[in-house]
Amino acid sequence: MRLIDSQGRNINYMRLAVTDRCNLRCVYCMPKAGIAKKGHDAILSYEELLFVAETAVGLGIEKIRITGGEPLVRAGIVPFLDRLAEIPGLRHLVLTTNGLALEDMAGDLYRSGVQRLNVSLDSLDGKTFAGITRGGDLKKVLSGLDAAEQAGFPPPKINMVVMRGVNDAEIPDFVEMARTRGTTIRFIEYMPVGWEDGWQRYCVPGSEILERIRARYTLVEVHKGPSAGPSRDFRIPGSRGAVGIITAVSEHFCNACNRIRVTSTGQARGCLFAGEAADLVPWLRPADRSGLAGALSEIVSRKPVRHRISAPGHSHERFTMSQIGG
Ligand code: SAM
Ligand code: SF4
Repeated sequence: MRLIDSQGRNINYMRLAVTDRCNLRCVYCMPKAGIAKKGHDAILSYEELLFVAETAVGLGIEKIRITGGEPLVRAGIVPFLDRLAEIPGLRHLVLTTNGLALEDMAGDLYRSGVQRLNVSLDSLDGKTFAGITRGGDLKKVLSGLDAAEQAGFPPPKINMVVMRGVNDAEIPDFVEMARTRGTTIRFIEYMPVGWEDGWQRYCVPGSEILERIRARYTLVEVHKGPSAGPSRDFRIPGSRGAVGIITAVSEHFCNACNRIRVTSTGQARGCLFAGEAADLVPWLRPADRSGLAGALSEIVSRKPVRHRISAPGHSHERFTMSQIGG
């Protein structure tokens, strides 16, 4: 079975947010005060999340990324991942985390069947890191990265949101990290989430990021598989490391978009920037497999052709990335 949208795109990747809570308050993701806490009932239970995942895999989803908020702050996440990893037909189970809990949890995550971790890390300087995350401890994240490798994971991919005047001077330090750790660093353009003024001044276009790297390093573009996601990746000859750029703002990659998103409150979206979301809750309480399959197929068939965030005067509904899962 395959999920094909109106543009002929094969939708085989789902980002599934298991919580909207987080132990950090990154400046580009959440307001300083955090977000209003939702009641227990508003958040999907693990049974409901599994039902969504199984139904989506039955329709053609092959890769699920667990995200949040911070997925590792939700109690009971490991037994949930154990069960998720057993869904027949799910080929890739991956997870994005801020890395703070990896020191303690990497072994359990590896044993649960998660195949790969992405860790968000925007600075290698303790003070800058604490500033961006509003209080995060860089040392903990770095030990978490080591713990992940010791547990058996391949070196986690690092997501760095590049912000002009904040951390963009560290681009070469991250390239060195890619070379020495043998991992991939993905440089992400700062995306507007709708409540910050003047976001454009922070956004460093991917082309400029590449130019700045190429001034010091030779890069060779890597060609990737169909469920690989939106980054353009480049090998650094002479090392196992690679760098990638994610240019959601300056060069949208909507024509290759293969994803849908489901939030922890059961809202399915065909596009991060589409105001429209389908409420899956009526198909979960009580569980109705064919109704849910219909709702997921509908979100795919209504997936926008492309987003328009870079269009002059564009505005979109305010959201926090932590609620949608990035
Ligand atoms: N808490 C986890 C983490 O930080 O990796 C998972 C959720 S977080 C919302 C997922 C990703 O979204 C992170 O890599 C984060 O850097 C990215 N993100 C959040 N807000 C963003 C923004 N305004 N622009 C670009 N990326 C953003
Ligand atoms: Fe939390 Fe991740 Fe958002 Fe940072 S990017 S506030 S770690 S959800």
